[in-house]
Amino acid sequence: MVCGVPRPDLLRGPCGYRGVTACQWRAVGFCGMGWSAEQTEAGTRGEPGGPGTDTAGAGTGTAGAGAGAAGAAEETAGPGAQAAGAGSGEGPRAPVALSPSRAGDFMQCPLLYRFRVIDRLPEKPSPAATRGTVVHAVLERLFDAPAAERTAAGARAMVPGEWEKLLAKRPELAGLFADATSDAASVDAGGSVAADGTAPAAPDGAAAERLATWLAEAEALVERWFTLEDPTRLEPADRELYVETELESGLRLRGIIDRVDVAPTGEVRIVDYKTGKAPRPQFAEGALFQMKFYALVMWRLRGVVPRRLQLVYLGSGDVVTYDPGEADLRGVERKLLALWEAIQRATATGDWRPRPTKLCGWCDHQAHCPEFGGTPPVYPLEVRPPDGAVVPQGRMEQI
Ligand code: SF4
Repeated sequence: MVCGVPRPDLLRGPCGYRGVTACQWRAVGFCGMGWSAEQTEAGTRGEPGGPGTDTAGAGTGTAGAGAGAAGAAEETAGPGAQAAGAGSGEGPRAPVALSPSRAGDFMQCPLLYRFRVIDRLPEKPSPAATRGTVVHAVLERLFDAPAAERTAAGARAMVPGEWEKLLAKRPELAGLFADATSDAASVDAGGSVAADGTAPAAPDGAAAERLATWLAEAEALVERWFTLEDPTRLEPADRELYVETELESGLRLRGIIDRVDVAPTGEVRIVDYKTGKAPRPQFAEGALFQMKFYALVMWRLRGVVPRRLQLVYLGSGDVVTYDPGEADLRGVERKLLALWEAIQRATATGDWRPRPTKLCGWCDHQAHCPEFGGTPPVYPLEVRPPDGAVVPQGRMEQI
């Protein structure tokens, strides 16, 4: 089959399109990328916070918790807009660029992509995603110290401080560990609950305990990294590197790479940290998609194909590597172009279909999702039916 799905009945499951003729991937071969039912299970298993939480933590640079939405601004504006995002007060805009996280969103569920990138609906921060952000911050800033001082004990000790810094930037994270029954409670960095959000009240024992457990989990992830890589022997060329390029087609690709190593020979290694577990080998292609995306961007920017892509899974203590070739990356470029065409088509027509999978359990937008009895917000952009006529905003349902 052209679409790469071996059996049309698979389309009823992960894809959400009820028949082959309705499948927008039929002509572009996206289902062959590994976003099958099995892949979504792997994503669930690999990251408690759901897929994208790792890349959200690192990939948005500023967000992390709830970064699926917070990072959405990267699709509609330049790097300066990354701190904005869902609920930022900016008006809806058509997407102008693609990042690995949002490409993954669209492949998972077009309606989820719409909610995050176009509607910018707010999302709740999660402890798992926030932990990923803190761990990424430690692994980035650890290299500020001289090589001999990059110890596991020192890195563990950085965790509470990085959490406090994140909390200072994003005070809304204070509620992560508050008692679910306490109204509008907030928790300071030490676990105290502030009833009015300004002055810490008496410490809430349960909240403090949850925070302590969460910090210990983050410290364990940081410590595990030392069993996988030796920072005393590494001098990264770049950390948290923002990259952006425009393909000949005009498609803009952007993202943030956790770490770039350059060997004395000039060979480049792209490294990404995952706080979840490694997927089973048969699902590795889906996990490598983000890395190949970055490799393509680096190739276009620097003219050299990165020698190695390396995924470091702190949750399971695995390191997955892949050495890409030019043919690989040209294939990724073709797939991204096809994906972008599908996104542009959906943007123009307003046809963003839900694609229910097991991952819906981590979706913050069930209340707006028809698959769960919800109604999406009025589509905020102009829509164009196939004849090209412009339909005023909010009238998509009349097409
Ligand atoms: S709940 Fe709806 S919008 Fe969210 S991922 Fe599932 S199908 Fe998509």
